[in-house]
Amino acid sequence: GPAAEPLLEIRDLSVVFDGFRALDGVDLTVAKGELRFLIGPNGAGKTTLVDVITGLTRPATGSVRFAGAELVGRREHEIVRMGVGRTFQTSVVFEELTVVENLDLAASFRRPLWSLLRRRKGVSDAVARALEVTGLTDLADSAAGTLSHGQRQWLEIGMLIAQEPRLLLLDEPVAGMSKEERARTGELLTRIAEEHTVIVIEHDMDFLRRHASVVTVLHEGKVLMEGSVDQVRNDPKVREVYLGR
Ligand code: ADP
Repeated sequence: GPAAEPLLEIRDLSVVFDGFRALDGVDLTVAKGELRFLIGPNGAGKTTLVDVITGLTRPATGSVRFAGAELVGRREHEIVRMGVGRTFQTSVVFEELTVVENLDLAASFRRPLWSLLRRRKGVSDAVARALEVTGLTDLADSAAGTLSHGQRQWLEIGMLIAQEPRLLLLDEPVAGMSKEERARTGELLTRIAEEHTVIVIEHDMDFLRRHASVVTVLHEGKVLMEGSVDQVRNDPKVREVYLGR
């Protein structure tokens, strides 16, 4: 097919905290529709990179181009509106609300204010799709507080999808999941990547082996290497800093 056009193009990105370089000249290109994995030992700069993309942290140097627009210098809410969504390690689910109500609430963050005043019948297309993709349709009317750990993680991903982002940034989506839940999450990510571009921070090598296409390895604020799971796993530099622990 035609060469995939880049959705995200990061160039020479550096972040300095009190003289410490958390990111040091990072270049990263992610194509539209890609499912990209980001790994690296603790302190490598993974979260800082996501924080820069989403406007939480301002870089000392460099650029982040998203669908041709520069993100550096924009506010967080503006970046969300442009179609960048992320999960946080702290839960954003309202336990008293049902699954569909949580999805609807999430979707409303990207709707114009007037649409909240209009009475809506049924669920929006975005919410219906989020239910379907996450496999939570049968639990639509269950209180979120009754969900299992895995179902709750899927709901959080669903809440992002309901906002119809072009780029999703997911932080350790299989943390704490059972083997079955991991497998299902892998399928879910593959499905999401059919319509969105996804960057996943994930440490679980077994999960990567099954689901990753391209892996970017960060180490001490730099891109150590980029390649297939096998290339990354067999690379002596990577083994030394990451796998050889
Ligand atoms: P990772 O997500 O790969 O574990 P982080 O991006 O969280 O790594 O952190 C990269 C480095 O930057 C770490 O050494 C961390 O201590 C440091 N760091 C992150 N955020 C801040 C901050 N707000 N102030 C100072 N240092 C920070």
